Amino acid sequence: MNDILKQITETVGSKKDLLIDAADQIYGFAELSYEEERSSSLLIRLLEQEGFIVNKGVAGIPTAFVGTFGTRRPVIGFLGEYDALDGLSQEGANPKKCPVIPGAPGHGCGHSLLGTGSLGAAIAVKEYLKANNMDGTVLYFGCPAEEGAGSKQFMARAGLFDDCDFCFTWHPSTLNDVSPDSGTAFMGANFSFKGVAAHAGGSPWLGRSALDAAELMSVGCNYLREHIEDGQRIHYAYSDVGGTAPNVVQATSKVKYEVRARTVDAMKQLFERVVKVAKGAALMTETEMEYEITMAFSDCSSNRVLSEIASRCLQEVGAPKWEETDFALAKQFLDSYDTIQRNGIETSIKERFGEDALGEILKASLHTGVIPYDYSKRRYMGGSSDVGDVSYATPTCELHVATCCIGNIGHTWQMAGQANSSIGYKGMLTAATAMAYSAITVAQDPEIMQKAREEYIKKSGGRYVCPLPDDVLPPIGRY
Ligand SMILES: [Zn+2]
Repeated sequence: MNDILKQITETVGSKKDLLIDAADQIYGFAELSYEEERSSSLLIRLLEQEGFIVNKGVAGIPTAFVGTFGTRRPVIGFLGEYDALDGLSQEGANPKKCPVIPGAPGHGCGHSLLGTGSLGAAIAVKEYLKANNMDGTVLYFGCPAEEGAGSKQFMARAGLFDDCDFCFTWHPSTLNDVSPDSGTAFMGANFSFKGVAAHAGGSPWLGRSALDAAELMSVGCNYLREHIEDGQRIHYAYSDVGGTAPNVVQATSKVKYEVRARTVDAMKQLFERVVKVAKGAALMTETEMEYEITMAFSDCSSNRVLSEIASRCLQEVGAPKWEETDFALAKQFLDSYDTIQRNGIETSIKERFGEDALGEILKASLHTGVIPYDYSKRRYMGGSSDVGDVSYATPTCELHVATCCIGNIGHTWQMAGQANSSIGYKGMLTAATAMAYSAITVAQDPEIMQKAREEYIKKSGGRYVCPLPDDVLPPIGRY
């Protein structure tokens, strides 16, 4: 083991109990987007205890913050998330569905580990800089609401990443890798139709139905699907159907639309086509339509220069050191999936590792290796994240570390239950070590930093442009 990794491993080891306790508490708080008061307060307190100066309530979001340690360059950023998902309350380490509070939020995306793992990395880098008399500043970005309307695009718009030389983050996963895959750009908006109420039996000709307009918009968008690019997405959900009485012509309706595409430009073009469909629906029904953009993320991919380094560092750190009890627990979680889900899991394992490896992998139930970074295997994924906006504001790289059984499905009670078990904790500590090791490796090599910056400038033009209109503020309490 080289000296950098040795020192980082020692620091993360010495903070193990503190980090596990923090992850445990945040798991228990399970706070939804923009409501992460207790989770953010805990992380802020721990940062302050470690000597960070914390700027609270940044970018107009009360639960967003930036912790700073040091003054000089290089400036090294880490991203932390800590929001939960609705309805996924689950007793930790229990492989049977068992909510702590039925219907309450839970950490079904493992963000209780995410924010805490990044805290571990920030502390380890700070300690390394101090111990080796190195120049450098460590920034910890407390980023709420990743599962909601996001925060990082507002933080980027406020210029909070402008001084960063580079940023590392991670996400709890089923595998250990630095992935070349990219996520989509994303925009959400509410479309409201206003019509005229009337007696649906007595004088329907006097009414103008806002519900008809919303339905015709859905019909139009569902026809539009045939003529959009592969990988683009259109989703919708009704939030106002104009009441429950069929004998009243519905005077109001509201439908939330979300569109996704590979780039911000393509996403904006797709959104404009959806707006045209909405206008057509209003014209057909003689109703009035207005729309309000509520959220948007940029497309997301890791910086290749940083990914090469992070992948090598993660391989050196290795997969979490699973014990027999971890394998046994992971197997129980894997067995909790029903036949349809299980078939889907097996198909994805076969696609990734080949048919012959399936039996061995299912038997182990946990990923025991590290998949090397290979840009030629890059795929476009359907999901989106506000980490994309950070990647347009500074060179950014995301690692994945296993915190759950192989093939595990995200946003489930199973994902939550494993986040609060020895499997999740081991993954979190491995992520903290690998991120800190990667960051120090990059920070000590000006040539790598320069190359990472050049790649970033080529991608972004060197300046962050927010995909949201300037007047869209964080939709706190409204999303
Ligand atoms: Zn997540």
